Amino acid sequence: MYELQIVHLMSIEAFPTLVTPNTPPFDQFELVREAKRHVCRVSGAARKYTSFYVAGVYGGIATAYALGCSLRCIFCWSDSRDHQIGRRVSYYSPNQVVEELWGAARKKNVRKARISGAEPTLCKAHLLQLLPLIDDSGFESFMLETNGTLFGADPDYVQEVAQYNKVHIRVGLKAGSPAGYQRRTGAFGDGFKLPFQAIKHLLDAEASFHVAAMTDPRLMSAKERTLLIERLTELSPQLARNLEEETCDRYPSTQRRLEAAGVDAIDFFVRRKPLNPLP
Ligand code: SF4
Repeated sequence: MYELQIVHLMSIEAFPTLVTPNTPPFDQFELVREAKRHVCRVSGAARKYTSFYVAGVYGGIATAYALGCSLRCIFCWSDSRDHQIGRRVSYYSPNQVVEELWGAARKKNVRKARISGAEPTLCKAHLLQLLPLIDDSGFESFMLETNGTLFGADPDYVQEVAQYNKVHIRVGLKAGSPAGYQRRTGAFGDGFKLPFQAIKHLLDAEASFHVAAMTDPRLMSAKERTLLIERLTELSPQLARNLEEETCDRYPSTQRRLEAAGVDAIDFFVRRKPLNPLP
């Protein structure tokens, strides 16, 4: 009788929390596996969250702040993406998440909700049990802000998510070239294709979604921005026309990550100089 042994090739400590100019790139699917081990629980389809409150963006939106991501973007603002061991966090079932979101929404009289601060698609069973509860709740809409890693790799997952009425997906593009992707996310550059694949799958599923991109000229060259828009136009000229272009704001966590990546914060945020050299 043989016992199935699960071997974890890389522990969570092997992945960078800060990407420096000398950090070797990592396999984002290895990070997905490790992150899931730390933030998703099979029992009760639970996921780790840090807090629930109404954020001012989107005109006020009840937000569940989750842990765990498949990337390590150098411009990221989130304190919870790294799912550090020892943080004061708890597992929440899908029912508990809806209760917490609704409690926060009622206090501020808002009817929109989202998961933020991490990659919301990471715990598949959790998300697929949460979405029907949202459909049955008093919320008008539910925003999923994804980096496209898992939706790019799994068209069936996209089909399942797209069937719910209140979900709207925002795909965040980080790069228009492999070099830009590797420099800004820490993952191997060939992963830059994944969010474009995710967009293809979302189009096929006729999902409600739009595309955002971190095209801040301090982080992305004009040439790479053109490549990104051309690639998006090939998939859908309408999506390209409606592209939401993001700029990098000065959060303490963002500044810490940019400085680790070799960026002078004063040059970047005050003098508004671009990364040197831009990939
Ligand atoms: S910006 Fe988004 S995709 Fe990038 S590390 Fe932060 S949470 Fe993850």
